[in-house]
Amino acid sequence: MSILAKRLSAIKPSPTIAVTQKAADLKAAGRDVIGLGAGEPDFDTPDHVKKAAQDAMARGETKYTAVAGTLALRKAIVDKFKRENNLTYTPDQVTVGCGGKQVIYNAIMATVEPGDEVIIPAPYWVSYPDITLLAGGTPVFVECAETDGFKLTPAALEQAITPKTKWLVLNSPSNPTGAAYSAADLRALADVLLKHPHVWIMTDDMYEHLVYDGFTFATIAEVEPALIDRTLTMNGVSKSFAMTGWRVGYAAGPLPLIKAINMIQSQSSTHTSSISQAAAAAALNEPMDFFEAWRAAFKARRDLVVKMLNEAEGLSCLTPEGAFYVYPSCAGVIGKTAPSGKKIESDSDFVTELLESEGVAAVQGAAFGLSPYFRISYATSEKALTEACTRIQRFCASLK
Ligand code: PLP
Repeated sequence: MSILAKRLSAIKPSPTIAVTQKAADLKAAGRDVIGLGAGEPDFDTPDHVKKAAQDAMARGETKYTAVAGTLALRKAIVDKFKRENNLTYTPDQVTVGCGGKQVIYNAIMATVEPGDEVIIPAPYWVSYPDITLLAGGTPVFVECAETDGFKLTPAALEQAITPKTKWLVLNSPSNPTGAAYSAADLRALADVLLKHPHVWIMTDDMYEHLVYDGFTFATIAEVEPALIDRTLTMNGVSKSFAMTGWRVGYAAGPLPLIKAINMIQSQSSTHTSSISQAAAAAALNEPMDFFEAWRAAFKARRDLVVKMLNEAEGLSCLTPEGAFYVYPSCAGVIGKTAPSGKKIESDSDFVTELLESEGVAAVQGAAFGLSPYFRISYATSEKALTEACTRIQRFCASLK
């Protein structure tokens, strides 16, 4: 009898972490590799946030906290939701986890039973389906075409809803496409959701601040307040404050749901680090003065990458509204043959051959549920991006 539980066979390791690891292994073996797989900002956590962590340690805030998170942090989150999203929550309606990922995990574990369906627009962030499967639920993928800007349409949503639907997961700006839903886009989806009161909405707003060209971020409970009683509004400090390693994510929603999430957390991690919580509170309470420079850097990188990818033979790339990813189509190279003699039959072949011949690590669209595309993270220097895109152009030109 195997020691391993059967539920493990339903899931796989994160493919984005796998690509990052493969690139690191090749680098360690002496290969000249540019990694465009990682989903984290290359900036450092702002100094005032680090200082808040040091101060918390000096004050002795090194003990257990409340399972839901410290009151100071939950108050900072309540203020943030009011100030930035016009959403009214009480501290009891807020939960803090070890990153946004654990908050989503807790929420799905607390609510999804075998037979329950979770609508996941594709392309999607890689963890939604696997967490759903671990809970015994059924992911229902809805393909969102490039011609729709990789966004869920109201008609497609309507079609996907069944009596078994428990959640709709909405992620804007999106990992992996960078697509973001405007208030009007969300209004149209809300009109469908109002007709189906049994469907709950999990909004993953991790990339809220990472929007460009004057795009105005919106979240669904703000656009349609009638949905607030069945919406879990999830967010975190990982991406907006370059705090991926601190492991702080949070969500707010109806009290019974938040209590259930806290129950799961109380029997797993208990809470995230007390020091990280103090740092996150400072991040949310202090002005984001540093952010305009980051936004300008990300926008310049996005524009550079989109331009260079569109110059590559056989690739085409939309200009996304946000996040730090682009999701170019490689349809134009499918069927061609790489210098190694390998025929490119899929986006997985494309990224494998690209890594082998030019040392550029990207992630195949198949990992995110929509092919033939690949994801590039542009959270790295313009110098590295220019070199990577030059190599991609050279690789595409070498295909016969
Ligand atoms: N949601 C999305 C869309 C993400 O891209 C990520 C991280 O890659 C997360 C959630 C998880 O964030 P965290 O590092 O806070 O767990």
